[in-house]
Amino acid sequence: MKKIIALVLVCMFCLTGLALADELHMGTNATFPPYEYYDGDTIVGIDAEVAAAICEKLGYDLVIDDMEFDATIPALVAGKIDFIMAGLTVTDERKQSVDFTDSYATGVQVIIVPEDSDITSVDDLFAEGANHTVGVQSGTTGDIYCTGDIQDAGLGTVQQFKNGADAVLALTSGKIDCVVIDNEPAKNFVAANEGLKILDTEYITEDYAIAVQKGSELTQKMNDALKELIDDGTVAAIIDKYIPAE
Ligand code: GLN
Repeated sequence: MKKIIALVLVCMFCLTGLALADELHMGTNATFPPYEYYDGDTIVGIDAEVAAAICEKLGYDLVIDDMEFDATIPALVAGKIDFIMAGLTVTDERKQSVDFTDSYATGVQVIIVPEDSDITSVDDLFAEGANHTVGVQSGTTGDIYCTGDIQDAGLGTVQQFKNGADAVLALTSGKIDCVVIDNEPAKNFVAANEGLKILDTEYITEDYAIAVQKGSELTQKMNDALKELIDDGTVAAIIDKYIPAE
């Protein structure tokens, strides 16, 4: 009898514990190695690990919600998720709808081309009379910049894809001339596909940060946690683990 009572008490404790454990939902698009991608059924990567370290410091359980990249900001604004970590670039336009924490990493927009491409530098995309078809991930800064600088300027066409992998597939099958995407995913895609290279010249350098709802208390809390994790070398160690020094 004592055993049964003990078991019931343990179960009640577990259930209450579960119910009480506060969760933070992180929205991301897990097709962006090495920041977020699937290893089997698990989402791993720099963002997943930094998020886990922040949540641990703040006493929350981390839940990662995978969605299309261009669904992340609307999901945050609608309160369906608590924050976004998605190699997300800080931009003034995004600041109108979300708040950003301090930056924890840098990204560079680069250009992937077939090895024998006639595009040899970023300037070729903006040259007078240029007429390339440029693949981008929908809703990303690469999309926004290329649409403005190339398509709206009458210097070519921008084709939007759901994610980088789809854009790279279109590139390897000759449907588009290049892909503009963040440098670290670019390196992963080029390593995984024969016959592609990244141009030496870079389009633009950007800061990645965590997005939270406007006015959220999480900004300060996450900034404090992030600062500790940057100062004690945790963030650098996570980045080094996923981006080995060249
Ligand atoms: N850094 C880019 C952006 O914020 C791309 C991010 C992504 O595709 N996950 O728009």
